[in-house]
Amino acid sequence: MSVETVRETARRPPRYDVLFEPVRIGPVTARNRFFQVPHCNGMGYRDVSAHAEMRKVKAEGGWAVICTEQAEIHYSSDITPFIEARIWDDKDVPALALVADKVHEHGALAGIELAYNGMNGPNFYSRTAPMGPAHLPVATFTTDPVQARRMDLDDIADLRRWHRAAVRRSIEAGYDLVYVYAGHALGGIHHFLSRRYNDRTDAYGGSAENRMRLLREILEDTLEEAAGRVAVACRITVDELLGDEGITRGDIEEVIGALGDLPDLWDFVLGAWEDDSVTARFGEEAEQERYVRGLKALTSKPVVGVGRFTSADTMVRMVRSGVLDLIGAARPSIADPYLPRKIEEGRFDDIRECIGCNICVAGDFTMSPIRCTQNPTMGEEWRRGWHPERIRPRASEAKVLVVGGGPAGLEAAQALGHRGYEVILAEASHALGGRAAAEARLPGLASYVRVADYREAQIERLRTVERAQSEVSADEILGYDFDHVAVATGARWRADGVGRHHTAPIPLDPALPVLTPDDLMAGRLPEGERVVVFDDDHYYMGGVLAELLARAGRRVALVTPAHAVSNWTLATMEQHRIQRRLLELEVEIVASRAVAATVADGVLTRCVFTDRERHLPADAAVLVTARLPEDALYRELLERRAEWDDANLRTVQAVGDCWSPGTIAAAVWEGRRYAEELEEPTDRGDTVPFRREVTGIDRSS
Ligand code: ADP
Ligand code: SF4
Repeated sequence: MSVETVRETARRPPRYDVLFEPVRIGPVTARNRFFQVPHCNGMGYRDVSAHAEMRKVKAEGGWAVICTEQAEIHYSSDITPFIEARIWDDKDVPALALVADKVHEHGALAGIELAYNGMNGPNFYSRTAPMGPAHLPVATFTTDPVQARRMDLDDIADLRRWHRAAVRRSIEAGYDLVYVYAGHALGGIHHFLSRRYNDRTDAYGGSAENRMRLLREILEDTLEEAAGRVAVACRITVDELLGDEGITRGDIEEVIGALGDLPDLWDFVLGAWEDDSVTARFGEEAEQERYVRGLKALTSKPVVGVGRFTSADTMVRMVRSGVLDLIGAARPSIADPYLPRKIEEGRFDDIRECIGCNICVAGDFTMSPIRCTQNPTMGEEWRRGWHPERIRPRASEAKVLVVGGGPAGLEAAQALGHRGYEVILAEASHALGGRAAAEARLPGLASYVRVADYREAQIERLRTVERAQSEVSADEILGYDFDHVAVATGARWRADGVGRHHTAPIPLDPALPVLTPDDLMAGRLPEGERVVVFDDDHYYMGGVLAELLARAGRRVALVTPAHAVSNWTLATMEQHRIQRRLLELEVEIVASRAVAATVADGVLTRCVFTDRERHLPADAAVLVTARLPEDALYRELLERRAEWDDANLRTVQAVGDCWSPGTIAAAVWEGRRYAEELEEPTDRGDTVPFRREVTGIDRSS
């Protein structure tokens, strides 16, 4: 960061030294215990340089091992529409080699997660029939009308040959560690291990010994192919959380008992991906510990595992208590690519702790480059040249006023402060954080406060940024001497029902109290017993407020035009858990209906298919539909442009929700963009403002 940061020259307390011991993994040595496990990123084979640069920054940040996401080993393992890495043939080697090279530039080991998706891939791109242990519909996130066909012994021999070829290519591409992936219900080997998918009666089905046969064979092939040149890791689900219908702890103890010393490293994961990467709403740090504990004793090889670890003390406990040898991280490494270095240097206040929101996962689910609520530079390292720890020095001695201390204003102020700009951050309320602080008071969202805490701590240590607790007006701004003003005054929830379903206000009977999420976040709960929550937002807010109200003793009905609660959270892998929680709290779920109007004693709901109306009794309604920018100040400043010259004011820009209401991640990103681009030449969208790679044209025929 810039020289303006005031930083005590801290050193880490010796109790953390254990985290910086090297660990031998077969023929290679990890320089410390920080291990970035494979994670998807929505860039994969499409955004090759962007992907490579993202991994490079983590190597710079001190991780000992950096892995790719799953790399499809064969065209018949095509997980379209998801964008992962590919190693189908030699054509894919240069792209993967670039990632390995970038990781090596900063002294880390490069790992590749070879995956045969089997019945987890619909093969829409390659159009071949997927293969699995049984004739079953594919187990994809999108319930595709595709069946996997049962593999016969020739198919198994093919798969083993393809896997070997992928290992060979991985070595050629420069990887130090090659994965055999048997985890997360994402690949063929997992499906063979699990009773849920494996009903075979041949040598590959039935007993645990038979179900692990394919794993054993592929591990042996991989080790033979590796021939001591690279390490071989095995990633495996330790419990499928399905009782006797899936992979049980007993199965896994048998597997590790039999194969424990085959691979050079075990990577233990839990259940399917959605069980392993739960949001903070549904799982604490080190959630996996109770499932992984005890397995290390069954092998002489090192063990890595995850747990959304951000606390150095928890990491030390994992090592000291013999649960893990290597601290695995996907999300904590996304939120803070420099996590190891910060712990190494004792800079604990500088850690950007993951908030467990899974916006990063949503990048993968929406096939767009990974983004992160806490780390706005994620996915922008190559595209825009952003760096999580560095930003270019200021272009002038200009003074900047940032109005509003929510996620956008905080990020803009801290990033501008690091650039060396003189910044005043004006916030009307006594506390910083805006919506992040308000939402953190809702059930399960406490970790959202980390968005504010990290930035507030940075600002406190910057000499360049001053805080002012005041609600500033346009008059005041034009009376001061600022060169630039960023207006980050946020947004408010609408109270008129306008959103996705209704694009015009709905009839509201004044006799029925109507509240918005802002009211509930300010502590105003409806007085009556029966409350209808109309969720036309479809992200987390509607479900969270239904939970809040149910916990406060109200009888809640959640009405949504979607077919399921909080439907967009499919992309953050929490929809199932949200709906289960609400049902357990006795929330009545009224799906595929919209609130069409309020009446004195309830609401009228309308079926989205038939338009049939029904009366739903209620004492109050909460409308969770859409938001409007709080942009009065911004608009007034624009209207008074004629006065800018006299005030030496050069630019005024709305940032974050005030510009366009969105996610917290989007607001933080906008704040960063403002700071990155201040006093840089820009146009009004006439040129693409980021780098991208376009498909090369094949002229070979
Ligand atoms: P974003 O997500 O875009 O950062 P938030 O709604 O979280 O937006 O934050 C907006 C912040 O701006 C709130 O903390 C609010 O108190 C503050 N604010 C709004 N208007 C003013 C103003 N005129 N002067 C100072 N602070 C303001
Ligand atoms: Fe953590 Fe959210 Fe960032 Fe993902 S997007 S790394 S869950 S803060």
